[in-house]
Amino acid sequence: MAGTSDAALRERARRVIPGGMYGHQRAGLFPENFPQYLSHGEGALIRDVDGREFVDLLCGYGPIVLGYQHPGVEAAAAAQRRQADCQNAPSARMVELAELLVDVVDHADWAYLAKNGTDATTTCLTIARAATGRSVVLVARGSYHGAAPWCTPGLAGVLPSDRAALRYFEYNDHASLRAAVDEAGDDLAGIIVTPFKHNDGEDQELVDPAFARELRQVCDSRNAVLILDDVRCGFRLNFGGSWESLGIQPDLSAWGKAVSNGYTVSAILGIEALRDAATSIFSTGTYWFAAVPMAAAIATINAIRDEDGIAAMERAGELLRSGIVEQARANDLAISYTGPAQMPYFRFLADTDFERMMHFSRVALDHGVYIHPRHNWFVSVAHTDEIVARALAGTEAAFRAVRDRFGDG
Ligand code: PMP
Repeated sequence: MAGTSDAALRERARRVIPGGMYGHQRAGLFPENFPQYLSHGEGALIRDVDGREFVDLLCGYGPIVLGYQHPGVEAAAAAQRRQADCQNAPSARMVELAELLVDVVDHADWAYLAKNGTDATTTCLTIARAATGRSVVLVARGSYHGAAPWCTPGLAGVLPSDRAALRYFEYNDHASLRAAVDEAGDDLAGIIVTPFKHNDGEDQELVDPAFARELRQVCDSRNAVLILDDVRCGFRLNFGGSWESLGIQPDLSAWGKAVSNGYTVSAILGIEALRDAATSIFSTGTYWFAAVPMAAAIATINAIRDEDGIAAMERAGELLRSGIVEQARANDLAISYTGPAQMPYFRFLADTDFERMMHFSRVALDHGVYIHPRHNWFVSVAHTDEIVARALAGTEAAFRAVRDRFGDG
């Protein structure tokens, strides 16, 4: 892509940003035609710095739940910005947002607000340890809980001691959970788990309700803390905690992403019995009290409810799923398409190293659809039937291209 604005920015970035870009936003993880830099987002559409427009099926990795530039959210943020954002102390928006979260999420008796999902998951562990006076936390192998030393998937610079008090189990596997619980012995502080299994590059797996019940029982019988990491799924699957429909309440939950339609707020929600522990810890940040993102979060949560947002996303996701599954069938290509409709993931069964998926993503992008080759996708309320049809026109071309290059199967 020599000669493009994107290429020029990459060249400048190489001089002043480590590796040119870090983390999962590195364009190097995508096919070579993907942009590194984006300039605009509106509804379900994004534009790169060279003016190419795409239907977005990644939604900023989840935050964009109502669509980019949602008028109600932007108006609330703008009104707050005219008053104040970052100050010596929080604004009234903090109390209003905490009240709203406590009202909407069943298990929540209090809310502790932060910035990133990693702040939320890490603070949950700290609260669990403060409450129990114990150290060991159980984590499902391969689950992403953020980029702090205890959970980052990159091990450079991470000390064994950062993870010494973690034990691992396999998601949905009772025997491995019991083994990890036994290993923790009387030092079990808590268990952190995502609402369903959404490990990168793997088929997604809904939680087995019996497994979720066992997690609850283990925590009850050992006086340990059950932490639901709802950072990715929160406000996409349910209007409330993602396990409300199962009737299983965590003791703590971590939230981020969809809470504020792209503004920077995350939250830790907890039960009454953990209020004192949450009061006892010191976890904070310069920007954690900024009022604009909180105003945006209040408007976002109200809009998800008022616009029946969960149902709208489910409908868009179902349309996408049936279209993609039919296109794969028509091209004689075997795929697995997994996860809730709003957060799908698909891969080609014949792929050994994502080679078909990389080609699929490359061609989809050339046909105006931005998808991720190995991370689950997201749809938003702005993914109307017309937008989904546009996305499917791109994926149709991508399926044909995969078949042409790799054959059927
Ligand atoms: N938990 C889960 C389940 C996530 O998906 C993520 C982000 N992808 C995080 C925690 C960390 O959130 P953040 O990137 O905002 O720190």
